[in-house]
Amino acid sequence: MTDKVHLGHTARKRFGQNFLHDPVVIERIVKAINPKPTDVLVEIGPGLGAITEPVVEKAGHLTVIELDRDLAQRLQEHPVMAGKLIIHQADAMKFDFRQLVQPGKKLKVFGNLPYNISTPLLFHLFDYADDIENMHFMLQKEVVERMTAGHGSKTYGRLSVMTQFFCHAMPVVEVGPGAFKPAPKVHSAVVRLIPKPISERQDVPVAVLNRVCLEAFNQRRKTLRNCFSNFATAEQIIEMGIDPSLRPEQLSVEQFIGIARWLHQQEQ
Ligand code: SAM
Repeated sequence: MTDKVHLGHTARKRFGQNFLHDPVVIERIVKAINPKPTDVLVEIGPGLGAITEPVVEKAGHLTVIELDRDLAQRLQEHPVMAGKLIIHQADAMKFDFRQLVQPGKKLKVFGNLPYNISTPLLFHLFDYADDIENMHFMLQKEVVERMTAGHGSKTYGRLSVMTQFFCHAMPVVEVGPGAFKPAPKVHSAVVRLIPKPISERQDVPVAVLNRVCLEAFNQRRKTLRNCFSNFATAEQIIEMGIDPSLRPEQLSVEQFIGIARWLHQQEQ
């Protein structure tokens, strides 16, 4: 039997299927999620249920979003979990998470995400940051490093700024390829994301911040004077309290937000 077949299911590469099977890793992830019966829990990509089952055991209920019709069907027929799951056979990238929010209760979202779509899926979820209490995601270790990097680090870039605009982000667990079937080529890590209050970001449109990041990190070897020449002069950068001879990776997230706020005001 090949590494691709796990519990009678052949992993589908197009759905980014790498199934967790290491009980120690699964326990650590569930501990990080800390599911409680009063939580509104949502799992993206439950697959064969490696994390689903222990979470349901603790919480008694769970909503799952699974794109693979066969896997959704399997969960529907699961002898223990079936009655405790609300199953959406759907694409999480197009899913309206707001429909799951309950009065006075935000969502706790988690999953071992398909790595091929992890960045666009994260951006989709950031749209719902105000409806989410926390998120725990298994991702490529390198992606977690970029999300949590501070300014001055080599891995600091657009994903760091955009993630930290929406959330406090911290790595929780590192996981080697051997914990999965089939084993991925890369190392993985779980990141914890706690959305920041909307008051910290409501006057900065995401699209403007994204544009500032693109201008900056597409040319990360250049100085800010050159990176931002499309929309600000060196004098204007100085007026924002920023040295235009710095390079983009030297700017803090707060400084990026400040530039986006300034640019948005200019364009109004
Ligand atoms: N949670 C399981 C585990 O840890 O063993 C499976 C993780 S596997 C890396 C990713 C899961 O996400 C698969 O079950 C896959 O079918 C599902 N998936 C892939 N693309 C998806 C999408 N766009 N929306 C929802 N689920 C998706």
